[in-house]
Amino acid sequence: MHATPLRSGGAACSHEGMSASTLTHPFPAAPAAGETIEVAPGLLWARLPLPYRLDHVNIYLIEDGNGWAVLDTGIGNEATKDAWEQLLSGPLAGRPLTRLIVTHMHPDHVGAAGWLIDKLDLPLDMTETEYLQALLLTTNPESLGQDHYRRFYVDNGLGPEATEAVMTRGHDYLRLLTGLPQSFRRVIAGDRLIIGGRSFDVLTGGGHASEQMMLYCAEENLFLGADQVLPRISPNVSVYPRDPMGDPLGIFLRSLRSLKTAIPHDALVLPGHDLPFAGLHGRLDDMIAHHEERCGVIVEACRATPRSASELVPFVFSRPLDAHQTGFAFSEVLAHTNYLLRRGRLGLVDGLDGIHRWLAK
Ligand SMILES: [Zn+2]
Repeated sequence: MHATPLRSGGAACSHEGMSASTLTHPFPAAPAAGETIEVAPGLLWARLPLPYRLDHVNIYLIEDGNGWAVLDTGIGNEATKDAWEQLLSGPLAGRPLTRLIVTHMHPDHVGAAGWLIDKLDLPLDMTETEYLQALLLTTNPESLGQDHYRRFYVDNGLGPEATEAVMTRGHDYLRLLTGLPQSFRRVIAGDRLIIGGRSFDVLTGGGHASEQMMLYCAEENLFLGADQVLPRISPNVSVYPRDPMGDPLGIFLRSLRSLKTAIPHDALVLPGHDLPFAGLHGRLDDMIAHHEERCGVIVEACRATPRSASELVPFVFSRPLDAHQTGFAFSEVLAHTNYLLRRGRLGLVDGLDGIHRWLAK
């Protein structure tokens, strides 16, 4: 999650609104804690709590022989473990979990993986990039505090106090992980996953995470879209210091456009947050338009005055932001400026203070 005006949560989503298209929600009420809702025969929807404004993450259980395959785990904290215990002793009692499928490396999706795997001895299915990035976070969380992070924020105009706040409090959610096994089963776009009596086509998309997994069951027109397309908020798209000149927004928009050809408009979308919905293509159009609009705001703000990422944040996010939200807002602005820079709509101006600023071209 992470949201805009930042509805922050784990590593996920931003931005609200953008409701030009009409979505239908065949299951208008979410499952209560410890309960599930059957959204298709042998496919259960459950929710786990998150300690953010976006206060939940969806997980799905897919009938797999005599047990259940699990899609995503919740964040790695005690509230999630309690919620899992409720599910395991409640609606899931009597049937084993067979495998764990994780869509992407954000802690609200992969956070409880180590704990669940230790407890239930499950194989882990992930894409390689998501597995490796999550493994890096779990094996070397201190890498988040290193100098390249500090330089990245400072070079883009964040003051010393805000930089420290983002690197400490703002990064806390990245530590809500319970580890990962040393081996996994690699899943790649184009694969077909057979789960129980169902066959799922594997798709991946970048932008929100590098190689996020989505699953489509053509026979039943079911799309497990993870965080790539959400009904109410737009997933966070951020530049990080590992790839400071990267173009996650360009990659994300390409993915959204390709989903319009890969997945039918009337598929039942089972998202990582909020309610299942139908009306996919309209939603994709709205999300694309949202980012284009935000690009327009940034270009206008840089029309007469060169501005840094930090200086652009208030143009894009009008509410006051806490440390957690500031980190996301800042990195999300950079995703837009990098996108505009690559497409010649902004030019880089390096000032005497060494801070990167952009001017409209
Ligand atoms: Zn996410």
